[in-house]
Amino acid sequence: MDLEKLRETAAEVVAREDVKYLIGWKNGSYGYRVAPAFIEDAEGAAELIFSPLCISNLSTYLTLVEKLPLPRGQEPDTRKIALMVKGCDSRAVTQLLVEKGIERDGVVVIGCPCPGMIDYDLLAEKYPETEGLSEVKWTDDGFLVIRDGEETNVTRDELLAEKCRLCRYPNPLISDIMLGEPVETWEPAEDKGVEEVDKKDVNGRWAYWEEQFSNCIRCYSCRNVCPLCYCQDCILDRLNPTWVNRAVNFSENTAFNIARAFHLAGRCIECGECERVCPANIPLGRLNRKMAREVRDKYGFEPGLDPEAEPFQASYKPDDPEDFIL
Ligand code: SF4
Ligand code: SF4
Ligand code: SF4
Repeated sequence: MDLEKLRETAAEVVAREDVKYLIGWKNGSYGYRVAPAFIEDAEGAAELIFSPLCISNLSTYLTLVEKLPLPRGQEPDTRKIALMVKGCDSRAVTQLLVEKGIERDGVVVIGCPCPGMIDYDLLAEKYPETEGLSEVKWTDDGFLVIRDGEETNVTRDELLAEKCRLCRYPNPLISDIMLGEPVETWEPAEDKGVEEVDKKDVNGRWAYWEEQFSNCIRCYSCRNVCPLCYCQDCILDRLNPTWVNRAVNFSENTAFNIARAFHLAGRCIECGECERVCPANIPLGRLNRKMAREVRDKYGFEPGLDPEAEPFQASYKPDDPEDFIL
């Protein structure tokens, strides 16, 4: 993507009277880190970047910022929020529109066609982070890693994030402004992670998830980063009744993780953020992608594609399969 064009467009957007600020990515303070940027003027717009390191899904801020309580007597600021989105992020915006979590008039969606993002862990393992700012750029067939001024060409297969190997929608599906030309889509890889769990028998699957959920420390990072986990009154925070106990043990951890997976069924847009931020390395993507696959195969529904769609969990067709109901 042409960074000059991005910054110029961003400066024009934030200069609009009906726009409060723009959310995009900028370089972090060290190494490969990229940070979210809340841009209000042309000076801020000059810091924006779009690179293979911009893996985070910023659409989660659309609902988080609105959760802030207003000081007494202050009127809500109803100006629009501009947001940079990749393909997967754009599905979160669409799903939020479907659920009426946000209003179409309240956002300016800036589409960024996405050639695929880097897996930070793979990157840091092979090319350890240095204190100075490092960069990664797209090349025709992979990535260029720049550390302390030293440039290394890396193949796409070596560093591409799992969600990007599986990606079916790299181009934003909804946008008000599109930056650059759509990227050529690629054949999604087989989902070996889901298949590995699927081929176990029921006891094997239970043992697998028991081991994984036992590692959960209930930090709720997965919930907090998820663009579709935005209930103001989350079941997990309730004390009366206490649906899920706060104790960190296998039973409560399982209740939490399964409740979250079910709440995301037909809503998860497979952005992979929950797994990316999990400090316990729990393969949450396998769980959510399995649910997404079931919804796709059994009900022919994929969330985040059509802003006019009915929410999956609130729609019913007389011929919906129901043979799993006891
Ligand atoms: S999942 Fe697709 S749209 Fe999202 S970061 Fe990866 S390639 Fe880009
Ligand atoms: S991010 Fe990982 S450790 Fe934290 S609550 Fe979620 S599953 Fe558990
Ligand atoms: S459950 Fe995970 S993969 Fe699905 S939308 Fe939320 S953060 Fe993204």
